[in-house]
Amino acid sequence: MKAVVVFALIAVLVACALASNTDALWEKLEAIQTLSQQLEEEKSSVLIQLQAAQETQLASPEELSASEELATSESSYDCGVAYDNGKALGSRQCVNVDGKAMTTVLFEKFQALRSAAAAAGVSLKVNSAFRTQAEQQRLYNCYLTKKCNNGNLAAKPGYSNHQNGIAVDIAGTATASIYTWLRNNASKYGFVRTVASETWHWEYRAGARCNAFVGYTCK
Ligand SMILES: [Zn+2]
Repeated sequence: MKAVVVFALIAVLVACALASNTDALWEKLEAIQTLSQQLEEEKSSVLIQLQAAQETQLASPEELSASEELATSESSYDCGVAYDNGKALGSRQCVNVDGKAMTTVLFEKFQALRSAAAAAGVSLKVNSAFRTQAEQQRLYNCYLTKKCNNGNLAAKPGYSNHQNGIAVDIAGTATASIYTWLRNNASKYGFVRTVASETWHWEYRAGARCNAFVGYTCK
């Protein structure tokens, strides 16, 4: 009988212990649920703030095109007054190609030529493109004195096609692979040779036959 009482007492004690333990667990669970709810609320609040911040950062289409224009105007620059047949034409916009000034208008055409050459494994580099009156004066003096620029032929200041923007001197035309590629392909992109003594001097003259100025065979 004693044993039964002791057993019953132990059973009550265990039950109490379990009960208090369960209460504690319930309290813990409630606390976790409360915390979880708080975190959930904070999460949605942060998400809303993030969305608002992203909407502020996203530029409108107008702002995007304005920044694109800015990028273009930064890479092109006023490279001085163009001349044609002795007459000043006004300022030109240039970009630097291989460190040499080239009008943006010619650059657009030259890019097509250069890309096609590159695709054929031929690297076209620019030695000279747009020239200012001062630069042409310097080269003309070299031509007269034969003491600089190899004494190469140079037109009078104001009369060079490097001054109206259509001419480009291409490096390496003494190399057969470069010259042969130009001879066979340049006219497809509007570029033709115009000076008999200069294999490097090419001009953009859309639609001109490749041998209209200098007699050389081309495709
Ligand atoms: Zn030239």
